[in-house]
Amino acid sequence: MASPRMVLAIDQGTTSTRAILFDDSGMAEAAVQQELPQIYPADGWVEHDPEEIWRATLAVCRGVLDKARLAPTDVAAIGITNQRETTVLWDRATGRPLHNAIVWQDRRGAALCRQLAADGHEPLVQARTGLLVDPYFSATKIAWILDNVAGARDAAERGDVAFGTMDSFLLWRLTGGKVHATDATNAARTMLYEIHKQDWDQELLKILNIPPQILPRVLDNAADFGTTEKDLLGGPLLVAGMAGDQQAAVVGQACFAPGMIKSTYGTGCFVLLNTGERAVPSQNRLVTTLAYRLDGRPTYAVEGSIFVAGAAIQWLRDGLKLIAAAGESQALAASLAGNSGVYLVPAFTGLGAPYWDPEARGAIFGLTRDVGIAEIVRSALEAVCYQTRDLMEAMASDGAAQGTEPPTTLRVDGGMVANDWVMQFLADILDLPVERPVVTETTALGAAYLAGLKAGMFQSTDDIAQRWQIDRVFQPRMSADQRESLYAGWKEAVARVQTQAK
Ligand code: ADP
Repeated sequence: MASPRMVLAIDQGTTSTRAILFDDSGMAEAAVQQELPQIYPADGWVEHDPEEIWRATLAVCRGVLDKARLAPTDVAAIGITNQRETTVLWDRATGRPLHNAIVWQDRRGAALCRQLAADGHEPLVQARTGLLVDPYFSATKIAWILDNVAGARDAAERGDVAFGTMDSFLLWRLTGGKVHATDATNAARTMLYEIHKQDWDQELLKILNIPPQILPRVLDNAADFGTTEKDLLGGPLLVAGMAGDQQAAVVGQACFAPGMIKSTYGTGCFVLLNTGERAVPSQNRLVTTLAYRLDGRPTYAVEGSIFVAGAAIQWLRDGLKLIAAAGESQALAASLAGNSGVYLVPAFTGLGAPYWDPEARGAIFGLTRDVGIAEIVRSALEAVCYQTRDLMEAMASDGAAQGTEPPTTLRVDGGMVANDWVMQFLADILDLPVERPVVTETTALGAAYLAGLKAGMFQSTDDIAQRWQIDRVFQPRMSADQRESLYAGWKEAVARVQTQAK
């Protein structure tokens, strides 16, 4: 019998749950996905039903095996990647969630975060976890459930409650409640994990009043996470890889050397720079995090995020109805010789890194009688590129202080990278080659690589890097004068929406 040569990647995202089968060359063989309903119980609150996620996970895994006509014995291992920070607490005896999952976008921890900052804990949080005090991370979501669900805290103190991000919850369910574990990249997003010592931070747990007995065991990204219950997927399967979505994308993009950088353009945009063995603290309010941990050795990253990337294109389509489909934006932008001085600052929910101005709101500048749909559409696409440059400059200035070499290319993925015009403009504004790979499902691919690494399908990160295939490189070709004058126009537009001086 031939040895199994497929990896099953589970990609549990914010808006969908997907299962994708990858072969040993890193090509996707089959994919099945289910949309995930969003629950909005109050302004600024976002939840998911963990039972719904579990049912969808089982359905897409079974569906993709059927679709590819594969038996479980054809699958070497499972890799899990997930929406990061989203928090579930469940009963260890019954496996039942104590509350809906509180999603990363949920802001209900804001008051507790203000309290933590007022009590002077911000430097400690940054030093230990690499993060900023923000309700985005899991810690204040855990605290909210413990404080607001009747009986939760007592049960947690007794050791009857388990906490996990979606990866841990799914692992627990897949292993029939036998394994309560997570990986180092997901742990690093909780605001409770010491990224230098690679352990839960007892002092932060005390400050947040979170009982340590609820926490999962933290493993490498490629590890033996346990075996699925045999009747779930038709036979026992080894879970051998796990990583948070953006970190999985780093692996899927084979950004294994210090100085390599990837940027994912979906609803929002996430830029991660590999800084190697050094955790570089940011002077520019970026986040220091784990890129991945293999064989017990952590590799660090600096991360910056843009709240509104593809979401601005969705707004043009669904809000303003200027376009019928996202893809139309390309021809509209390309139909113009220039931007006519029109700038859109899409600060719909405030400005993120490196500005951090939650009160700022969006604006369009430079309107004249001649401005039409094409100019507005183009300004939304340009904004994504200018914001990427903002992040890259912040990273460069952090790196410069620490002696890190500046990146020589940018590897991109996500739904927006189908837009050639955006990719060319990005290369021009960054003055950096932009590399688009053949497989742009890099998140699922990264999870598959990690699982395949543990299962022996891939021998090393070098072996994985050799499988990375380029679709197209966009070379910068804009003059320096034009680039700097366009970017200066953006900086001026941002300055006009800021509510506080930087
Ligand atoms: P997510 O994983 O966050 O749901 P995806 O990676 O699937 O996002 O990307 C979808 C986003 O990309 C949407 O916001 C959509 O507006 C945008 N998008 C898709 N195709 C294009 C295109 N050709 N030009 C510009 N934006 C696009």
